[in-house]
Amino acid sequence: MNGFIFAGNYFVNMSEIEKTSFYGTSLTEQHAKHELKVNKYTPINRAELEPKRRRLLGPSEFWGEYHTQREALDVAFQRSSSSLHVFVYQNSLGFRKFIVSHPEIYWQMDKYKPPEERCSYEVIPDGAPCHLYFDLEFETDLNQLKNGARMTKTLIDIFCAYIAEHWDLPCKRSNVLSLDSTTDVKFSRHLVFRLKNVMFKNNKHVGRFVKTVCANIRQSLFVDIHSSSVNNILKNFSKEDVEELFVDTKKGRKLFVDGGVYTRNRHFRLYKSTKWGKNSHLTESSDSEYIPSTKYRDKELGTFLDSLISFLPDNRNLSLLEYQDNGSVDTTEYSKECLSQQIQTQLSLKSAESLYPQIDKFILDIVAPGKIRDIKVVMNNQKLMYNIADYRYCANIGRQHKSNGIYWVVDLQKKIAFQKCWDPDCAGFKSIPKQLPLEVHFQINDEMDSLLSSMPEPEVCPVTTNNPSPDIEDDDLDFELLNIQINQSKN
Ligand SMILES: [Zn+2]
Repeated sequence: MNGFIFAGNYFVNMSEIEKTSFYGTSLTEQHAKHELKVNKYTPINRAELEPKRRRLLGPSEFWGEYHTQREALDVAFQRSSSSLHVFVYQNSLGFRKFIVSHPEIYWQMDKYKPPEERCSYEVIPDGAPCHLYFDLEFETDLNQLKNGARMTKTLIDIFCAYIAEHWDLPCKRSNVLSLDSTTDVKFSRHLVFRLKNVMFKNNKHVGRFVKTVCANIRQSLFVDIHSSSVNNILKNFSKEDVEELFVDTKKGRKLFVDGGVYTRNRHFRLYKSTKWGKNSHLTESSDSEYIPSTKYRDKELGTFLDSLISFLPDNRNLSLLEYQDNGSVDTTEYSKECLSQQIQTQLSLKSAESLYPQIDKFILDIVAPGKIRDIKVVMNNQKLMYNIADYRYCANIGRQHKSNGIYWVVDLQKKIAFQKCWDPDCAGFKSIPKQLPLEVHFQINDEMDSLLSSMPEPEVCPVTTNNPSPDIEDDDLDFELLNIQINQSKN
């Protein structure tokens, strides 16, 4: 797993050129100067010294860039004591990058970008505690008489009433941060319910809660709740207000609440970010009644931190709200140890498996009785690097090395595998490639498709087609792997 930890430092080196074009030169220079300063104090292993620095100087300065979400989430979990968070952005060339950093550091980098390039999202990690959040929207031309601001207020009041009823917690409009990116054609808001020392257990519980309340709202239109004897929270709201929450869409009439934002590892747009090419940034709604519970000297930073759905600063008094499938509710105390243990177990099970079990087996058969120590996804998801343990046969010298190990590289595009070597004498060597078995080809094609389909919807972050991914040369691979090697030997 060490490869993951150092991957962060390494990707920063690799991506300087892209960062320059993305953040602008001056900011990249600033960051480089800062890096230099940090490295002066921690010339050998920055990671080891990090907790001490954080206590002395504020948030962790860690900054890692990754091509895959899995890698980024793993790194953030492994360093969860540093309150790191996973963000995703699309750069000016249309590539997506996953960033692991403390939110305060991310904000400092993000706020200097040109507005049209602020296209960042928070990753809401599967299983992580999160606040109640909403994505509200409707098309203006289909709903010209609708008052979105009033509808938002009604919705907030309804959910506050349910929270009070289920968990006996006071909840008011002043607890709800309302962000707006409405345009001429679309009403669009994000809501974040910020209850002090309270979060939901994870976004599955949020999703169940939201869906159940929305179902009640729909039902209330067909049943005359006001004259029935059944106790119903919605009795406290006028029928007109509740009815107004339904909007016309091209697919019929429905609630203006997007029920699709509670899926695994969901991406949720950041404060001051825009959908790519839309130039409509999320800002605080003019009618927001939100009162922050923590005051920051930098108000913008405060709003940014409060807008994060799943950012969890060290908080030992945190209570977690649960909403089960059968509608039963509960509150549990958050236990960091327990949570990280659970996540660690998940991680260790996955440590030496890739997305392609058949390729893993193919490599294992070649290197038997050796094992796969770890697998890295490199070159923009196009290659897999298998670090091998307990087996050092190198085709370059025709025998086993005494101390240096070997690794195998799988090229998913060309569907071949070849051996390379960590021994300096074998630098640049590449064995005669082996074709991957035919049955693996289908799985690769399938996986490539599903990788593409897991990307944000094209209208959110379209991949720029006039800037195709450059051809990956083996020289680049060598450079990339060399960096990994250097970082591993530091360890
Ligand atoms: Zn060798």
